Amino acid sequence: MAAARLRHRMGRLLERAPALGPWPRTYSTSPVFADVLRLPQKQLTKIVYPLRELEQYLLVDSGAGLIERRLFDPSFEDIERAESIFAATAWNRIEYLSSAVRLDHAPSLRQPEVCFIGRSNVGKSSLIKALFSLAPDVEVRISKKPGHTKKMNFFRVGKHFTLVDMPGYGYRSPEDFVDMVEAYLKERNNLKRTFLLVDSAVGITKLDNIAIEMCEEFALPYVMILTKIDKSSKGHLLKQVLQIQKFVNTQTQGCFPQLFPISAVTYSGVHLLKCFIADITGSLK
Ligand code: GDP
Repeated sequence: MAAARLRHRMGRLLERAPALGPWPRTYSTSPVFADVLRLPQKQLTKIVYPLRELEQYLLVDSGAGLIERRLFDPSFEDIERAESIFAATAWNRIEYLSSAVRLDHAPSLRQPEVCFIGRSNVGKSSLIKALFSLAPDVEVRISKKPGHTKKMNFFRVGKHFTLVDMPGYGYRSPEDFVDMVEAYLKERNNLKRTFLLVDSAVGITKLDNIAIEMCEEFALPYVMILTKIDKSSKGHLLKQVLQIQKFVNTQTQGCFPQLFPISAVTYSGVHLLKCFIADITGSLK
């Protein structure tokens, strides 16, 4: 069983536009993209393309040689179109569908699916809430209490795709995570992409390596999201990004070679991530 092998391997692995007044540092709701577009250039870039500031240190010609170019580089128009896919309307229903503890309890759906995995406390619920901030009726359920059953939660995003919030894996129960999630990752036919969350302030932990190994073992296409980027200084964030990019380049096969740094507090990178999800699920066509 891959679960046992993975457990065994665990030890080895290591200013809004001036007219709008000052841009708040935190938001209670997602900034509407039209407002973001009115930000001064530097802030606009920081919110929409948070990696750009760091890219000069990653590029081949900088000597670091970690990336050659930006792979996913959508226009503002594309990002705006993706925003409408994540906005609930009478014609675009965004809703919680159901929860499941086993794959055979999962709803049988034909539309493309994306799933989010990460260790407990990595910021997964906060990110999913940020993604659904234009669908205020969607309740992102959090079941963290000890003993509370951890479930996979399914959300329908219009006719476009399903988003699955997978149970977080914790230090006390990596086996539960592996057992529950393994079948889903291995057998879910409509799964288009797995988003694996890593805390940017902490870096890749041994627990994160369990999920990475699983994605690699099942040859899944996956994407690494770096959460909580607002917490670190630019220097610390750069150090982490360099390290994680190097890991992705040298230790992985299935990981998309562009990292997605995000903050659920400042919304940096959230619009870009929505656009990426819309793109890979064919929702922008
Ligand atoms: P989960 O267990 O992975 O669902 O994590 P949560 O979304 O519940 O977040 C865990 C903790 O990290 C909470 O205290 C959040 O407020 C905090 N957090 C989540 N995202 C961010 C972020 O982008 N920036 C900062 N500074 N804190 C965050």
